[in-house]
Amino acid sequence: MDKNAGLKITGAPSLEELHASVCYRLPSKDCNKTLAVIECIEGIPCNPCETACPQHAITIGSEITNIPVVDWDLCTGCGLCVAACPGLAIYLKNYNYNEETSLITFPFEYYPLPEVGQSVTMANRFGEEICVGTVLKVLTLKRNDKTAVISVSYPKEFFEDVITMKRLKRE
Ligand code: SF4
Ligand code: SF4
Repeated sequence: MDKNAGLKITGAPSLEELHASVCYRLPSKDCNKTLAVIECIEGIPCNPCETACPQHAITIGSEITNIPVVDWDLCTGCGLCVAACPGLAIYLKNYNYNEETSLITFPFEYYPLPEVGQSVTMANRFGEEICVGTVLKVLTLKRNDKTAVISVSYPKEFFEDVITMKRLKRE
């Protein structure tokens, strides 16, 4: 397959463009693992995801503009690549968080941050509201600078569409 298939120049990628790319794979509905999903199809000169992964699960290769590819046999769902990506192009997903909901863990750089247990509005790649989710975890590590890593459960029917949450209003 062409390593740069799905190459896109500007804007958020559509699902059609993602499906044409070698970097984008979505965990299947019978998979119970939490796995890294990459939406980086622009062929930019960048590789922190590759160096951040302790399992060496992400490969870019000798050309720094290659599209990153993740090996799910090696991925442990640790999330280190999520905060390491300057393009906010990686998240973790698990279809089977429980009977009704899926899980997403995504980078978030807007304040205020949500609280655990809070209901939040989940959004797609274009910032459109999709559904309501429940915050499970908010990770703010010094080494991640100002990028928080947030885990949310949300209805399974929106598994692929959801990639982030809407910004919260300041009180
Ligand atoms: S989630 Fe962890 S193990 Fe998986 S690709 Fe990212 S850094 Fe590597
Ligand atoms: S760190 Fe992010 S933006 Fe850079 S190559 Fe990896 S996925 Fe793409």
